[in-house]
Amino acid sequence: MSPFRERARVQLATPGLGAAIGHAMDVRAEARERVFGNTDVEALRRAARAIRAHTIANLPEYLDRFADAADAGGASVFFASTAGEAVAHVLRIVRERGARLVVKSKSMVAEEIDLNAALERDGVEVVETDLGEHIVQIANERPSHITVPAVHKTRAQVRELFERVYGARLSDDPAEITGFARGVLRERFLRADVGITGVNFGVASTGSLVIVTNEGNGRMSTSLPRVHIAVMGMERIVPSFRELSVLLPLLTASATGQRITAYVNVVNGPRRGDEPDGPEELHIVILDNGRSALLSTEYRSVLHCIRCGACQNVCPVFRQVGGHAYGGVYGGPIGAVLTPLMDGFESAGDLPHASTLCAACSDACPVGIPIHELLIALRRDATAEQAGRAERLGFALWSRLWSSAPGYRTSVRLARLAQRPFARAGRLRRAPFPLSRWTSSRDLPALAKESFRERWRRAGGA
Ligand code: SF4
Repeated sequence: MSPFRERARVQLATPGLGAAIGHAMDVRAEARERVFGNTDVEALRRAARAIRAHTIANLPEYLDRFADAADAGGASVFFASTAGEAVAHVLRIVRERGARLVVKSKSMVAEEIDLNAALERDGVEVVETDLGEHIVQIANERPSHITVPAVHKTRAQVRELFERVYGARLSDDPAEITGFARGVLRERFLRADVGITGVNFGVASTGSLVIVTNEGNGRMSTSLPRVHIAVMGMERIVPSFRELSVLLPLLTASATGQRITAYVNVVNGPRRGDEPDGPEELHIVILDNGRSALLSTEYRSVLHCIRCGACQNVCPVFRQVGGHAYGGVYGGPIGAVLTPLMDGFESAGDLPHASTLCAACSDACPVGIPIHELLIALRRDATAEQAGRAERLGFALWSRLWSSAPGYRTSVRLARLAQRPFARAGRLRRAPFPLSRWTSSRDLPALAKESFRERWRRAGGA
C-alpha cells in the first residue's frame, strides 16, 4: 500500500476528523462567496493570473529590484539556494546575537526548511505565536492547512492540550481559551530576542515586506524583538503596490473570506533614527529550494501560487483526510503538486493520484493555476520514472508487436483465445494478473469475436 493510502487510512479512522475539517472548509467557502458578492470574479482572476505570470516570467529582474530597494532601506538580504543554506544563515544571525528566545509568526517556508527543529537543536526556545500554529507546535504536530493550521482539532481537544501543557484550568469557551493563549504569548513577545516571520508579498519597487495576520502576532513579532528575520519564498514578489492592490484582497478573500485581514503589516526596513519602535536589524532570507528549477518547465505556473489555501477548502479528498495525510509541508491539491516537484517522485510520487481530478481546485484558485492539469502531467511523469524494467520491456515488446499488421493480428487472435475462460456476456469481470489490478475495481470489455476487418471481409467488402 502507498504511504499516502496508509496515512489517509489513519486519518480517516480519526473520529470526527472529516466532519471537523469539512465544516471549517464550508464556513470559509461560504464566507468567500459572500465577500465576492457581485464582483466579477473571473475578471479579477484574469488580472491576477496575468500579474503572476508576468512576475514569474521576469522573476530574476524583480528579485534584483526588490533586493536593491530593501538594501537601500537598511535591510540585509540573503539569497539561499537550498534549505540548508537558509537554515545556516538564520542560525548564524541568532547565534551571533546570543539570542535565547525566538518568537515566530506563521511561515510555511520556515516549515519547509524545518527551521524550528534546527533552532531548538541549537538550544534556542522557539515560540509559534499564531494561535493555530501554537496549538500544533505544543501538540508536536505539523500544520494541517496552509491558513488554518489546527483545523483538524476540536475546541475540546485544544482545551485539553492547553491544560496538559500549561497546567491551566479552562472551559470550552473560545474567548477563555484565546485569552489564556494571549497571556502566554504576550510574555514571550516581551522577552524575545529575535522575531521570525514569513512574507506574503515582497514589493519589488520599494523593497517592502507585506505580512497579513488576523491576530496581531505578525506586528508584535516584527516590532518588539531587537532583530527581525523574514523568510520568503523567491516567488512571493509583486512588481509594485499597484499589483499588490489586486492580489492582496484576492488572497484574504480566498483564504478566510475577508475583504481584508485585521492586520496588514508593511515593513520598510529596520527602525530609523527618528522612529520610536521597530527592530534594530532586519534580515530577509529569500529561498530558492528548487523553485528556480521549475521556471523552465511545464510546472512553472505552480510558482504563481499565493498560498491562500482555497484549493484545499474545496478538495473532496483533503476534506476527508486533512493535510497530514499528504506527508509533506503542503497538503491538499497544491501539496499534491508541490511536494513531488520538491521532494521527488520516489517519496511523493503517489500524491498526484490523491485526487479525483474533479478540477474544483482549479476553479477555486484565485490566480488561475490549472492544478488538475498539473496533477495529470505529474502522474504521467511519475509513471514514466517509476515504471520498473519489466514494465518498460513489456511495453517495448508490445509496441514492436503492434507496429506491424501481422504482429497485431496474431496478438489479437491469441488474446481472444486467452480470454475465453474469463469472458461472460462480453465482459471480463475477473482476469488473471496483471489485468486483475484493473478488474479488481471495474469490468474490462472483452475482445469482440470478430474484428472490424474480419466482418468487413465476410460482408464482401474490398
Ligand atoms: S494553488 Fe491556488 S488556490 Fe491553492 S493555495 Fe495556491 S493560490 Fe491558493
